This record gives sequence, C-alpha cells and structure tokens, in this order.
Amino acid sequence: MDTQKTWRAALSEYRAAKETGAFRPDARTCSDILARVAGVVRKGHGPAGDDAAAELTERAAAACEIVDDVERSDVPTTEATYALLARACAAAGDAGAATAALARARAANVAVRRRAYAPVLALRCARGELDPALALAREAAAWGVALGAADHAALLACAGRGGRRDRVPALLAAFARDVPVAPAPEPAWGAVLACAPRAWRGARFARVDAASGACAACGATLEAVALGAAERGALAARVASLALQACGAARWAAFERWLATSAHDCVVDGANVGFAGGAPFLELRRVDAVVRACEQRGRRPLVVLHARHVHRAAPRDRPLVRAWRRRGQLYACPAGGNDDWYWLAAAVAVGVGGWLVSNDEMRDHHFGMLSRGDFLRWKTRHVVKFALGGGGVVLDPPPPYSAQAQFHPGAWHVPARVGAGAGEAVAATVVTRREQPGALAWLCCAAPGRTP
Ligand SMILES: [Zn+2]
Repeated sequence: MDTQKTWRAALSEYRAAKETGAFRPDARTCSDILARVAGVVRKGHGPAGDDAAAELTERAAAACEIVDDVERSDVPTTEATYALLARACAAAGDAGAATAALARARAANVAVRRRAYAPVLALRCARGELDPALALAREAAAWGVALGAADHAALLACAGRGGRRDRVPALLAAFARDVPVAPAPEPAWGAVLACAPRAWRGARFARVDAASGACAACGATLEAVALGAAERGALAARVASLALQACGAARWAAFERWLATSAHDCVVDGANVGFAGGAPFLELRRVDAVVRACEQRGRRPLVVLHARHVHRAAPRDRPLVRAWRRRGQLYACPAGGNDDWYWLAAAVAVGVGGWLVSNDEMRDHHFGMLSRGDFLRWKTRHVVKFALGGGGVVLDPPPPYSAQAQFHPGAWHVPARVGAGAGEAVAATVVTRREQPGALAWLCCAAPGRTP
C-alpha cells in the first residue's frame, strides 16, 4: 500500500469536506485522519533527503490543522490526539511545536503517557539540548509519567556528550526510579556504563546472594530501596483523598482517629485471606492463622474486614473476633465504603518496614487512581504474599534488597531479567512481580579495589 498517497488523499478529502461548510468534525473521522497524517514514514519506504524533510513538515502542519479543528469543535480531545500531534511535530524536527503539543494536552486537562513525551525527549537529546530535555523529564515525572530505559539512556548519552557529568548522578537516580528492572538485552546499559568513572573496571554480570543481597563480584550489599518520607506522605495523602470520596468524610475521619491510636506494624487484608483459594464463605479461622503466623514473626498484626463479615461470623468463630477486638487487632469497616481503602491506608501509615499481607495484585480501577510509580514501588517493599496449606501458613515477605538499579559511590548494579519473560517491558505492568533468585542477572560495575 502506498502510505504516502493514502494520507495525502485522506487529507484532501478532509479539507474538501471542510470547504463545503456542512462538515462537522466527529471523533472517529478526526482520530483516523490524525493517525494517518502523523504516521511516521518507515525507514527505506519513504522519500529521501529534502523530500522526506518536506513531507514531515507537511504532515506536522496537517496534524496541527486537525487538532485545531478538533479543539474548536465539540469533539473531545484524547491522549492520542496530543500524542500524535507531538509525534508528528517531533518527526518534523520542530521541538518547539512538539513541546507546545504537550502543553496543549495539559491545558485541555488530558493526561498524556510516555509515548507523547518520548519522541520530543529523543529529539532534544539527539540535538544535545540537555536543559530542555531535563525540563521535559521533570514535567513527565510531575505528571506521574515514568520514562522508559531508552529515554533515560538518551538523557545520559546527551549529558555525556555535552560534558555535563554533574548531571549524571541525578539522571542515574531517575533511571533507577523509573526502570526497576531493564528487559534484556538492554541497549540502555551502554549509556549507563559510559557514565561510570573512568577508573572503574568494565561491567560484568554477577550473582547476588538472595538471602543477604551481597554481590559476588564486588562484595557490595544491595539495599532495600523504600519510598522516601515525602513520597510516602504524598501516597498516604492521595489514598486518604480518594478514600474520603469513596467512603464518606465522617466515616473516614473516624477511621483516621482510630488509626492514630493503633500500634500495628502489619495489616492483614481479611477478605483476601478469608476467601483465598475460592472459599465460598469468608473463613475467619484462616485469617486467625495468618494473624498468628505474623505474630510468630514478631509482628503486631491488624485485621481489616468489612463489618458485614464480622457481624455474620459463625457462632464457632465469634471467640476469634472477640479475641481480636480485645487485643485491638480488628478494624471493622462500616457499611458504605470499600474495605480496600481501609487496609491500604492502615498499611501505608505504618511507614518503613510495614507489612500488608494480601495476595491481591491491586489492579482494580480504584488503585489505578494512585500515582503508579510510587504505588508500585511501595508494593514491592511492603506486600507480603501468603500461602495456606496442610503445612500451615507460609508468608513471603519482600526480599532484604530491592531488585532495582542501584547507583552508589564505588559500585553500580543494574538488574536485567534473563530467561522467561526477559523481553517484557516491566514498566508497563501494574503487577508486583516478585523476582525469583536466578531470574535476574546483575550488571556490576565497580571501582577495582572492591572485591569480596
Ligand atoms: Zn557488584
């Protein structure tokens, strides 16, 4: 198919329809024509040289025209509207117009994703425009958009080429924040390692001891990277504001007053435990078994359950409920709210080292309203999975170190997924994947003096 003719033909039809005066833009026509004009000509299939540049400029101008029409009409703009506009402008080499497309999205209160930022960022970095690129990266972060490995690699390479090594530590920290585990093989590593101090030896893959977090190559111990106090405070505030709407202000205020008096350091998602394995009724005895397993690990557990499950407790289970109440180990969420908000808020309130015992992947719509990056990172450090079987309760707390890139003075470690699922883009998932020892290969780059 001649893609060039198709977009031009479609654009001619669109313009001809506008000239009749009877044309009213509709969402489907506009998104179709915009996708066509913003379509990037594949390498080797499009015109070359000046023709290519002229065509891309023409496409960008057409994309601007269409988005202008859409914004003037009553057709709602979407994330795709601005992502395509930004992409068309970036492809034409017009960084200013591409940046303006992102600003238009914000003005229209449309949340854009990484795909809108990536082409603009790539263009700025390719041109060595580090400061505008960094401004764009900060803006993406402020909007809760996690950049990908390729974006961070472009920023690092840009800083390296421009002799801006002062920027490298912050860029590495952002890389570690957004790209917990790089899919393998990962070209971004080249850019990361090119920023390593020259005196360091080259990178090599090393095994990390699952129990201690010690790197077999350099002896450094990997750290557990928790959310900072400010990030955790922001997550707690977001949970509270969403919960308040979902559960009602008076109920939530009563819960927060109660929470301030609780001494728990571990929250048990009672419904998730009680219904585990597809149980037809909520099994309070299972919940109690998990409570006792937590206590055996030196924890102070709190069971969060919807009040209806507490009120409907079978006579044989009522002593359990009374015992939890006596020990301050139960919060029964009142009717008219979602218990998810209560257990999440109670767990976030614990802070560093707090546990949330649940096999819930927390993919429901209401969790999607939380800032994804921070919530994902919080989950990796706080969610304790459980298994119930003939042998009793098995708790699976987070490992003693975080499976994410760690850059410290003296040693850098970047994890890469190897084997099954190696090529998956982890940043796109909302599931907390507990990496099995051996599923990750660690790229170690360290000062030569560091040996085990
Ligand atoms: Zn190492």
